[in-house]
Amino acid sequence: MWSYQAPLRDMQFVLEHWLEAPEAWRRSPAFEALDLPLALQVLEQAARFSQGVLAPLNASGDRQGCRWADGQVSTPEGFAEAYRAYVEGGWPALACAEALGGQGLPQLLDAALQEMLYASNHAWAMYTGIAHGAYLCLKTHGAPWLQERYLPAIISGASLPTMCLTEPQAGSDVGLLRCRAEPQADGSYRLSGSKLFISGGEHDLTDNILHLVLARLPDAPEGSRGISLFLVPKRLEQGQDNGVRCDGIEHKMGIKGSATCSLVFDAAQGWLVGEANRGLAAMFVMMNSARLHVGLQGLGHVEAAWQNALAYAGERQQMRAPLRPAGGAAQAADPIRYHPAMRRVLLELRATSEGLRAIGYWVAHLLDQAEHHPEPLARRQADQLAQLLTPIIKAFFTEQGFRQASNALQVFGGYGYVAEFAIEQTLRDSRIAMIYEGSNEIQANDLLLRKVLGDGGQGFALLLEQLRDEAGQGAAVAGCAGFARPLADLAEALQGLVGEVQQWALEDAEYPYRAAGDFLALCGLSLLALAWARAARVSRNLPEGDPLRGAKLATAGFFFSYLLPQVEQRMTAVRNARAALAFI
Ligand SMILES: Cc1cc2nc3c(=O)[nH]c(=O)nc-3n(C[C@H](O)[C@H](O)[C@H](O)COP(=O)(O)OP(=O)(O)OC[C@H]3O[C@@H](n4cnc5c(N)ncnc54)[C@H](O)[C@@H]3O)c2cc1C
Repeated sequence: MWSYQAPLRDMQFVLEHWLEAPEAWRRSPAFEALDLPLALQVLEQAARFSQGVLAPLNASGDRQGCRWADGQVSTPEGFAEAYRAYVEGGWPALACAEALGGQGLPQLLDAALQEMLYASNHAWAMYTGIAHGAYLCLKTHGAPWLQERYLPAIISGASLPTMCLTEPQAGSDVGLLRCRAEPQADGSYRLSGSKLFISGGEHDLTDNILHLVLARLPDAPEGSRGISLFLVPKRLEQGQDNGVRCDGIEHKMGIKGSATCSLVFDAAQGWLVGEANRGLAAMFVMMNSARLHVGLQGLGHVEAAWQNALAYAGERQQMRAPLRPAGGAAQAADPIRYHPAMRRVLLELRATSEGLRAIGYWVAHLLDQAEHHPEPLARRQADQLAQLLTPIIKAFFTEQGFRQASNALQVFGGYGYVAEFAIEQTLRDSRIAMIYEGSNEIQANDLLLRKVLGDGGQGFALLLEQLRDEAGQGAAVAGCAGFARPLADLAEALQGLVGEVQQWALEDAEYPYRAAGDFLALCGLSLLALAWARAARVSRNLPEGDPLRGAKLATAGFFFSYLLPQVEQRMTAVRNARAALAFI
């Protein structure tokens, strides 16, 4: 049966050794009261909630799905109670500013919390997943009175927000949206139009829902320059309905417990967030946070897939293995985890899960540093790196979520294909993350055209510096030189490639669009190489007898031998993308 245990030991390894986060907290006035024991206590509580409350609702939520009747949505049994427990636990306030009633903890801890929520129950966590981004968006762009009225409800969890971009004719291209906003004499707006695919657009978890809606003012220019952002509550201050109707919900392949709603706004009252016609800039604050969250969905799926595949591979016995581990007695049939093909898959699952965790938490840590590091240059560079890495986190992590769920399903053989073992649910649930929140193709374009070519390679140079720095440190540590050398070579190769890509992009304007997907995958693999080179090096800090010490070194060895060669293929594909693609 499917189960989930939060990987607290590895989370601690990343916080304490890979990131040396407690050092950074000590240096930062915002987090000086936080230390490792306190951080671990928070994660233990989060683990208790995820394992004890959410994981048991994962399969039942998938079976029941959501129900729609007369504009009302009922979530699966237990979802509303779980949300009440989440609010009572103070989880919505975790990484919100203390001055606003939050707990003032780092986004790094929030990333660990999110990983656990998504791993244990992706569908349920869709309701809460937007809240931190909405908080940031309102805090950054909302008028003071709007913040005063609505931020406390988001921070306490009394209301849940949504993100309303998509319309039937406007998906990836929000510039095509038609929803209208008419200014009113009292400074508010009346919004009319239809939105499609809105996660948590209607539900029974909270009484009020705060919709963040993109719409056009009457005199707005065409396209994405004419879009403004509005806050439109489901209920107004006295509790009266505000003309937002849920017309139906989608019947989907996965995340069935998450209500994906069609919403109709019928002269609903709303208020501008940020400047008129600058709605996309305001929304980007929310979308960047949401993209990190979606990447963490990928990580959560890889982790759940890895745990369940490992457990099954230990129980299921088929044929004798060519080799047994020391002390393994000969039997008529061995556990399938002894067979080299299955060991190969299990190691890929482990290398991906632990590698993505280090990188995902690093980006969250960079966001903390971008806000709170005492030195301005460090703040600026942390921000630049986090911006560069965000599309990679979104797209590479979610690709891996689906790929590793498929790998895990293979470990289950035929049982993986039947509903009872629920690994097929992981495969179905993980698929959507490659599509929403800016599809992975849009992320690839964003990475190569805006984040790499757009700034003349400056942000990318910061990433290369990280690779070189790690290679330099690893070269001096016993047992790690074998990882340091390929990492240093990779940094040189990437630098050379980006130089070529810049040139080819000048000669052929379509070229970077053809190369973008392979370039993003190449960056993702390079980040995993950084993750494993550093994991191997800092694992030397663990005591001699700690099994994690040997496991990290062995997994790093596996990654560099078996997975890193994919880099060559991606580099060749980026170069080969100079060849024209036929129109079909
Ligand atoms: C379960 C679910 C939940 C969702 N939740 C929300 C939500 O809460 N709020 C919200 O606003 N929306 C939400 N969405 C909508 C989601 O964000 C869109 O589906 C997504 O942006 C893609 O838009 P589309 O479906 O119209 O596909 P299209 O934009 O039509 O794209 C179709 C294909 O073409 C590709 N493509 C399009 N343009 C380009 C390009 N320029 N370059 C390369 N490839 C391109 C895409 O990558 C994709 O593969 C949700 C969708 C689903 C299914």
